[in-house]
Amino acid sequence: WWSGVEMGPPDAILGVTEAYKRDSNPNKVNLGAGAYRDDQGKPYILPTVKLAEERISKRNMDHEYAPISGVGEFTKASINLALGDNNQFSSNGLNATVQTISGTGSLRIGGAFLEKWFPGNKDIYLPVPTWGNHIPLFKHSGLQVKTYRYYEPKTCGFDFQGALDDISKIPEQSIILLHACAHNPTGVDPRPEQWAELSKLIKDKKLFPFFDMAYQGFASGDIDRDAAAVRMFLKDGHRVALAQSYAKNMGLYGERCGAFSLICDSKEEADRVMSQLKIIIRPMYSNPPIHGARIAAEILTDAGLRAQWLTEVKGMADRVISMRTQLRDNLKKEGSTKDWSHITDQIGMFCFTGMTPEQVGKLTKEHSVYLTKDGRIAIVGITSKNVGYLAHAMHQVTK
Ligand code: PMP
Repeated sequence: WWSGVEMGPPDAILGVTEAYKRDSNPNKVNLGAGAYRDDQGKPYILPTVKLAEERISKRNMDHEYAPISGVGEFTKASINLALGDNNQFSSNGLNATVQTISGTGSLRIGGAFLEKWFPGNKDIYLPVPTWGNHIPLFKHSGLQVKTYRYYEPKTCGFDFQGALDDISKIPEQSIILLHACAHNPTGVDPRPEQWAELSKLIKDKKLFPFFDMAYQGFASGDIDRDAAAVRMFLKDGHRVALAQSYAKNMGLYGERCGAFSLICDSKEEADRVMSQLKIIIRPMYSNPPIHGARIAAEILTDAGLRAQWLTEVKGMADRVISMRTQLRDNLKKEGSTKDWSHITDQIGMFCFTGMTPEQVGKLTKEHSVYLTKDGRIAIVGITSKNVGYLAHAMHQVTK
């Protein structure tokens, strides 16, 4: 049956980790994967996640199916985390929120809903570059993928003018994808005043904003600050789609815990939207996994756990920020005269270093440092122990 099946290419990001595993150099460093590591280079289980699990386990809960839309306490807490406690949208029932298979599943359900119900054209505009999976994901949803300028290689920063120019040319009634914070892969976010201008332009152009928020809290260490763009757009009168993930900010990667929301004009509209989201989900996977959602709900709804979680998220964000500073300082110590200020200007899990594919190739071949070809390094893989080695290697290939 399958003699005609071609061998597909390996996943660009997961392939980096495979190559790293095969390397026998004891100094090898893996900066490909986007998963947080502690300063010993080990996966980090948040203490609040452990506490929440213990509490849940003591309750002897059954393993019955969740509703199609997921664990109710979780979806409620999730939208409130995004929009803020007592926000006027969820308080008035204007949100249609479903639990999803983490952030990816949320984007995919959102894509499927927009393909079926978005009244405008079925084009979705993505920033260049964007998280690699966005492109096939939205194509699979049946949307046409188009792009707008975002990153300026010369400054390793935001191409604000390019973005404004491109967005102003997007046909009205199209969908635009925005990274709510900690843009992946560049780590480059608009400043608040730039967000304000983007919001106005997107409103004037009658575009529909779809926010991907995979890193709330993880970027700056402050959950409200990281959600500021989404909240600003809503205040400006936009109706938005929102994808949330608890992979990074709770370390629940493999539990696949996320949410998709649409903010509607009325409760009655939200009810209709909700009914259609369920109709999309039911034949895809019936209903979502419960374990991660129970943990997230426990943390978000218990005042004590929530307060402790906020300090743990901040701890992760602060370690990332401190590794950025240390990498930059070490490059200087090595004698690098290049401007590395973007390492500390950028935010979140990744840094777009500006290294060329040749330099990346050399870094891997000669120094056993593993990263994606586009020069993106996962800051989360840097530790106090390997930062000196990394800076030395980066200087060797860029001087
Ligand atoms: N969006 C962006 C921008 C991401 O970086 C990621 C994770 N790499 C995701 C969505 C989805 O991640 P997950 O499905 O693990 O929540």
